[in-house]
Amino acid sequence: MMTAEEYVRQLEAEHDMDLLDVVGRSEEFVGASLETDRLFGVDRSQHPDGPGPSAAGYSFVEGTRKAAAEYRDDLMSVMKYYAMLAFSSPVFGFIPLLEFNAFATRAPNGEAVCVLDNFLFNYFHYTSIALSECTIRGEDGPPPTDQKEALLYGMFATFWFCGMDDPECVRYLRSERKRPFSVDPDRVWFAGCMSEAMLIFVLAHELAHHSLGHLNQLQPRKLFRKKGAEPLYVYSRSQQEEFAADSCGLRTFLGYMQGDAPLIRCQKGLALPHAATQCAPLLFFDLLAIAEEAVLPAIIPDCAVSRSHPPARDRAIVARKDLEARCASDALSYYNQAALPFVEELGDIVVETLTRMAEQARARNQCRQPGGGDAEDRAPHP
Ligand SMILES: [Zn+2]
Repeated sequence: MMTAEEYVRQLEAEHDMDLLDVVGRSEEFVGASLETDRLFGVDRSQHPDGPGPSAAGYSFVEGTRKAAAEYRDDLMSVMKYYAMLAFSSPVFGFIPLLEFNAFATRAPNGEAVCVLDNFLFNYFHYTSIALSECTIRGEDGPPPTDQKEALLYGMFATFWFCGMDDPECVRYLRSERKRPFSVDPDRVWFAGCMSEAMLIFVLAHELAHHSLGHLNQLQPRKLFRKKGAEPLYVYSRSQQEEFAADSCGLRTFLGYMQGDAPLIRCQKGLALPHAATQCAPLLFFDLLAIAEEAVLPAIIPDCAVSRSHPPARDRAIVARKDLEARCASDALSYYNQAALPFVEELGDIVVETLTRMAEQARARNQCRQPGGGDAEDRAPHP
């Protein structure tokens, strides 16, 4: 029976993981990473992670696997430190599933696996860049440059997350957004910390499902896959278990963010994410709420409410109580002053844009009525 390692390699092979290596060698990608290194003054010959994309023989996929294993080991160290561990080390896979999801599962031989879709991390990354354009570090950051630009960028990321990056949507946003974004190193660094913090929280939540034994008693349900592909097993869970995984995940997340246990990243001399990004779980739930409340109902008219997962708003209320007790003092003030107004406005303009796009589509359909049209068939779906 297939082991966890073999299972993750199989998923990688089915989801064109090798394409990432092709992208990693492309002129655009190498150029962008050289530019980023220049911005931060990084000397790749001295870097603990070894040579970057511009070096001969560099493999993006190998880098991704190494990063996944390090996050896993560091989060497991924190769980051991808090004595929250009652399971063997799972295999982590960052795979371009295109499902914008993360889940805890098991390999056919029963070994623990955590899978995260690369695209979910991209979503975190883009919305974090947008947020950092508005303001960073609460009180002491530079003033916003152009909030409208930033919000449009965040909206693009939101639509893209929900599978709405069809040509029409992209054209609309391109016509609205004309200026490039800031390359201020503080902003870029802060955005990177925020998206990394959201990633760490999601990974800690999935590890918590394993740690709490949520996969022990449930029957796996096969997910619909293309013909001939290895089945992907998901385990339906109760809302209660989701809250329990949030709570356990939050504790692990904060332990990591505050460096409570010895972490590989610290041994390598790499800094912990900015303390203000300890509010990342709240931002994650806010972004999820925009997708749940505004975008999905607009694109799937009779979209059913998830029965396994509580609404993101409810999860945020519970998480906030936990965070208030334990996170860094500047994290909640950053969230209240910068992140919250950002996501509120982001939610508003997402709704406005969806309404306008729907009106435009209706008007176009009416024009086409006599000859019939296929516009409705092109409705985006996640
Ligand atoms: Zn969960």
